[in-house]
Amino acid sequence: MIIPTLGCPSKCAYCWSSEVDSPIMSIDTVKETVEWLKNFRNDPVTFTFHGGEPLLAGAEFYRKALPLLTENLQHLTPNFALQTNLWRMTPELADVLAEYKIPIGSSLDGPRELNDLQRSEGYYERTMKGYEIAKEHGLQVQFICTFTSYSVKFKEDIFNYFKDNGLTLKLHPALPSLRSDDPDKWALSPQEYGELLVYLMDKYLENMNQIEVRNINDYCRCVLTGRGTVCTFVDCMENTFAVGPDGNIYPCYRFVGMPEFVMGNVRDHPSQQDLAASPAGQRMRRYKDYVDKECKGCKHIRYCRGGCPYNAIAPTGGEIKGVDPHCLAYKRIFDEIGDRFNQEMMGSFGLGMTGSQPSASSSSRPGIMSLMKRMIAK
Ligand code: SF4
Ligand code: SF4
Repeated sequence: MIIPTLGCPSKCAYCWSSEVDSPIMSIDTVKETVEWLKNFRNDPVTFTFHGGEPLLAGAEFYRKALPLLTENLQHLTPNFALQTNLWRMTPELADVLAEYKIPIGSSLDGPRELNDLQRSEGYYERTMKGYEIAKEHGLQVQFICTFTSYSVKFKEDIFNYFKDNGLTLKLHPALPSLRSDDPDKWALSPQEYGELLVYLMDKYLENMNQIEVRNINDYCRCVLTGRGTVCTFVDCMENTFAVGPDGNIYPCYRFVGMPEFVMGNVRDHPSQQDLAASPAGQRMRRYKDYVDKECKGCKHIRYCRGGCPYNAIAPTGGEIKGVDPHCLAYKRIFDEIGDRFNQEMMGSFGLGMTGSQPSASSSSRPGIMSLMKRMIAK
């Protein structure tokens, strides 16, 4: 993850990651990042530009950074992604991003009124303007929807908004904002999050031909393949790193700007062992060991891995006092998918409680197996 700046022109009510007056990464820092990675590891790499707002770095930054990362790190077969609110998208920026076929992730919390209430007045319009420019230049854009303790009351409107506008739905629960005086004001509780996931799964199954809910696909893949497929559900600590605007290296973009989580700096070209030996690296390792013990008796441990370490340890200043607080939500949706899948399997073999064949009503309602078939076919 490359974080060109923590600055952001928006003022979303629940933001936990932007910083006013954050500097912009210099091209020299990109060059040092390249030098660091030349001998770091040999695995394929995906560079995700994140923020703050990464487009604040401007077209010139990407015009120089992208060839540096591509041409000098060919042995890592680099791929790219970018997460932005699109406000600063220009034809010039879109041209350079399109040249490298960079998929864009953006943020939209639902219909205009609801979105602007949470994200700031005029947000929707600015994002849509950038979206149009991105589309005109052939860029692929997918939106992430943050559900808060407020917007969850409008879950049906939000679902319909994404469906009716032909948009893929990917969601995030609002996290406690560590930069706010009232950190939990917008945060979605684990119980609410779990119920929301089950609700969205039902809506998704009913409307499978009209919408894709990415999180539900991911949860199903976890349960049915026994492997985590997104960072929350793997041991991210050895495979994800973030470089902040000043070249400091962190375990993930979420920690950028938190001095206690600095693992090193690209200018020192640290090895994987150096990063692991740093106090922040050791803390991340301790979290992994903690999950092995704490989640030992959980049937989902193989593909959940204690959830997101940031969620677990950032609110306690790095102290390990528990696993990801969303554990409750994860269990809720993993159990639901597993139980339904087993019932469907039993039904399809005529092994239901009554020993009879599945009824017309149960077989006519699309279930997890239909969703899996659809995902495989895609
Ligand atoms: S800390 Fe959380 S968000 Fe960051 S890579 Fe790990 S699981 Fe993903
Ligand atoms: S669901 Fe909860 S207990 Fe189970 S592995 Fe995930 S975090 Fe641990």
